[in-house]
Amino acid sequence: MAIDHPAFPVEPWTIRETELDLDKLAQAESVFALANGHLGLRANLDEGEPSGLPGTYLGGFYEVRPLPYAEAGYGYPEDGQTVVNVTDGKVIRLLVEDEPLDIRYGELRSHERVLDLRAGTLHRSVVWESPTGRCVRISSTRLVSFTQRAVAAIQYEVEALDDELPVVVQSELVTNQAMPHGEQDPRAAAALQSPLVSVFSDARDRRALLVHRTRGSGLQMGAAMDHVITASGRCGEGIESFPDEARLTLTADLGPGRPLRLVKFLAYGWSAERSSPALRDQVAAALAGAKHTGWQGLLDEQRAYLDTFWEGADVELEGDAELQQAVRFALFHILQAGARGEQRAIAAKGLTGPGYDGHTFWDTESFVLPVLTYTVPHAAADALRWRHRTLDLARERARQLGLRGAAFPWRTIRGQECSGYWPAGTAAFHINADIADAVVRYRVATQDDLFERDYGLELLVETARMWRSLGHHDAAGRFRIDGVTGPDEYSAVCDNNVYTNLMAERNLRAAAQASSRHPREAGVLGVDEEEMAGWRDAAADMLIPYDSALKIHPQAEGFTQHGRWDFAATGADQYPLLLHFPYFDLYRKQVVKQADLVLALHVRGDAFDAEQKARNFAYYEPLTVRDSSLSACTQAVVAAEVGHLDLAYDYFGEAALMDLDDLERNTRDGIHIASLAGTWIAAVAGFGGLRDHDGELSFAPRLPGALTRLAFRLSFRGRRLLVEVDHRRARYSLLEGAPLQITHHGEAVTVPSDGGLTRAIPAAAPSLAAPDQPPGREPARRRPAVG
Ligand code: BGC
Repeated sequence: MAIDHPAFPVEPWTIRETELDLDKLAQAESVFALANGHLGLRANLDEGEPSGLPGTYLGGFYEVRPLPYAEAGYGYPEDGQTVVNVTDGKVIRLLVEDEPLDIRYGELRSHERVLDLRAGTLHRSVVWESPTGRCVRISSTRLVSFTQRAVAAIQYEVEALDDELPVVVQSELVTNQAMPHGEQDPRAAAALQSPLVSVFSDARDRRALLVHRTRGSGLQMGAAMDHVITASGRCGEGIESFPDEARLTLTADLGPGRPLRLVKFLAYGWSAERSSPALRDQVAAALAGAKHTGWQGLLDEQRAYLDTFWEGADVELEGDAELQQAVRFALFHILQAGARGEQRAIAAKGLTGPGYDGHTFWDTESFVLPVLTYTVPHAAADALRWRHRTLDLARERARQLGLRGAAFPWRTIRGQECSGYWPAGTAAFHINADIADAVVRYRVATQDDLFERDYGLELLVETARMWRSLGHHDAAGRFRIDGVTGPDEYSAVCDNNVYTNLMAERNLRAAAQASSRHPREAGVLGVDEEEMAGWRDAAADMLIPYDSALKIHPQAEGFTQHGRWDFAATGADQYPLLLHFPYFDLYRKQVVKQADLVLALHVRGDAFDAEQKARNFAYYEPLTVRDSSLSACTQAVVAAEVGHLDLAYDYFGEAALMDLDDLERNTRDGIHIASLAGTWIAAVAGFGGLRDHDGELSFAPRLPGALTRLAFRLSFRGRRLLVEVDHRRARYSLLEGAPLQITHHGEAVTVPSDGGLTRAIPAAAPSLAAPDQPPGREPARRRPAVG
């Protein structure tokens, strides 16, 4: 059941909160979080309290913690990694006469927050009456800069509404904030109390700087603030610093029409290598740069950056205003997660919360990078360069597991495996092929051959080596990959998972092809003709199990012989199943946590014919419970392809509203970046029918009844392609670049550089009855808000 949020009205380019609900504070902190891939600020209130979860994060900055086991085993990772809530520079406290502004006291006469997706700002406007009856208006606007990655800034203005009154404003840096104690959901973070040790603190003029280090991971971080103050009356000020705090204090007498305005510039940096003086200088320099640009300059840069982004990435929907808003919200958060990551991992929650300990998973390569590849390709390349930087760790892990090549971690921040639960961690070897697939997609979409030569090739070669040693040829000459876990985490350690084998097949072929394109570099990596032939053989002989009695593909060998889960006896309150049933029982039954075989139908759609897709989809729908937010988007794509457009539309809605409606009730821990990426995937691959197998860009657009128009933009090989679809026709135009060959519903066509190309949408095949889902797990039927 969705959490109703009447306080978020439907608007095309903004998310607006018109009332403050203290019970949903943490959820809103995630939804309104600002980030740029390097720095993330949860939307904590300026005055710091009350808060759901205080949060300021730096991409890649973590602390280690032990991973305890009741029964240890060989190769179990001993250390985990946890995202750290670093020094909070958002805090601006206010004393009105002698009452601290705290919205739990006095009266909150009005409250509004607006996340502006084109300006890239979060604006807050509050009228508050203190318990002693004094009234103030506070307006604050904050941004995390896309153009200056180390920088955030806040413009804070306070005005007395009735009479003259004295105020004290305290603008702070606060380290080691107390964290609330959460409940025991294994998906939440192991919040660390007081993780940072002071190295340096200084304050002078209106500037302060704090440097801290972690105890275990050996990382140092610095945070600094500087201020520009505009006051019409007398204003006193002082600044001080302590090991874990720095504070600028301003005292002023305010009157109506005579506000006090403060612009607070913030800069952050961290390093594993640099000395503390070097880090200090780095942060101080970023701060000086931000101040030099000025508040208006930062706003202008932010808007210009976002104008360019939206020109290349916007998705327009007509017929469903709520999903129009949601799809832009999704794109904005994907950009925030990846734009300036610059060779750091993109976490499952981006930089919006501590959920999943801040770890990155296959979510990035399989869901986020397809979006970035076609909208902000340099960010996709950066994320893959990060994987490349961790190759030595992945090679070491492979050696530990007795494998060749590289075995990338299931979950990590720095690159070491941090999953303490190997059946749904280390055994999920498909992540290696997911990384390879992202490399292939990026090269095909950008023709960035230098990237392939310098980074992609080695990723492909080392993952292919891993597959070659993980699998083996059986007596019948088939290449088997036994004992692995596919995307569905309700089955584990299976033989020949179809998704894994098909993705490994593509990985092996791609490694051989890239080695032929770059023979010299491949030679340096030790690749020879014999090894390439071995990869090609393994790919050609790959075993893809098929149940000829049922005429469907079992998710993995034996799956269709398992008992079915007793859905009728499972209560609606027993989902997600992982919190209510033992894994051993989930593993031996036919019950699917998230699209697995159905994901293969999408990303390896070239390996199935149309009838197989329809039959497989019909088989897996009644078994799939969607206990992961990564599922709905894939079900949307395949439902659309096999002709269930209304069902696809329902799934699209679920992926899009995951966080705005808090569908899984854990948005408080951070937003679901993969599900938001899935919103784009459902629109573009689902209703636009985009497929990119073997370097061909093909479309098969078809809209559900409720949508009257869909338009999306893609970057592809130096072009910018605009695709516009209604119920009768699709129009392809190039906003930039040379003519482009594509396929429209199976027909090869060339989009000219000017004028565009229009094609009719062929009549759909008579639709089959839509399959059922497990009782109680149907997607919510979408009744679109009028737009
Ligand atoms: C899903 C995984 C996913 C992880 C992080 C789990 O619930 O089953 O596929 O990678 O969440 O989003």
